[in-house]
Amino acid sequence: MRLGAHISAAGGAFKAFERAREATCDSFMIFTKSNRQWAAKPLTDKEIALYKAAAAEYADLYPVSVHAAYLINVASPDEALWEKSYQALKDEIERAAALGIGMVTFHPGSYTAGDEEAGLSAIARALRRLLDETDETTPDTDICLETMAGQGTNLGGRFEHLAAIIQQAGPHERLRVCFDTCHVFAAGYDIRTPEAYAATMAEFDRVIGLDRVRCFHFNDSKHGLGEGKDRHEHIGRGQIGLEGFANFVNDPRWAGFGAYLETLPTEEAEDGTTIDMNQVNLQTLRELRITD
Ligand SMILES: [Zn+2]
Ligand SMILES: [Zn+2]
Repeated sequence: MRLGAHISAAGGAFKAFERAREATCDSFMIFTKSNRQWAAKPLTDKEIALYKAAAAEYADLYPVSVHAAYLINVASPDEALWEKSYQALKDEIERAAALGIGMVTFHPGSYTAGDEEAGLSAIARALRRLLDETDETTPDTDICLETMAGQGTNLGGRFEHLAAIIQQAGPHERLRVCFDTCHVFAAGYDIRTPEAYAATMAEFDRVIGLDRVRCFHFNDSKHGLGEGKDRHEHIGRGQIGLEGFANFVNDPRWAGFGAYLETLPTEEAEDGTTIDMNQVNLQTLRELRITD
């Protein structure tokens, strides 16, 4: 697997390459705009050129992935919020495509005052429109639905949710899934032992199809199996544990797939120095590889 992390793009997306290298990443994920704001200035030709130059210089750092803004909620029953979310999601795809990035992951959304079925349909409606409006212009940027922890009215905690969205929206080859280990575990799918992992993957294959998987978020979980609580933890320090991650990194089906840490990048040591936690977590994951 191409092990990496979410990397800060402060000062420009091109700056993430150097930071990713420093953190010993093989691959990385970025935001291309502030993740807590709706609007962003369009990328300038200069920003795009700087990014493409960095991508050429750091050609061994791949695949790069984008995480869309957290505000986006195309499951919303509120038509104005839905439209705003749709436009923001489309903007995310177009920004990523302008940089030559092949995937954008977004949260399916929350149905809030509506109901589950209407929420799933609203997401599918957004994706159908997105495919219609971008298939000519950005055919090489995949749209990835993230597996979610199943908190509250949040959709994506069941594999059936993602399958229903993909079915209703197309299905289309650009519609893919980002598999977040913490979220899947929190939603009740066990991955801690080889047997549990095999059963969860078989279930994913039966319901969605493993060929829909596009990338991974590698996070351990503070909370237990099926508790529905989304709190990321450093690799091996949570309830999933090292054996769980060994199942992924040694599964030949995921060779070449990007897997990104989404935990705090630094931690203060007892002596006051700063520890690069991405380096620590990536080293932990690499040591789980069975090399024979
Ligand atoms: Zn996410
Ligand atoms: Zn995630």
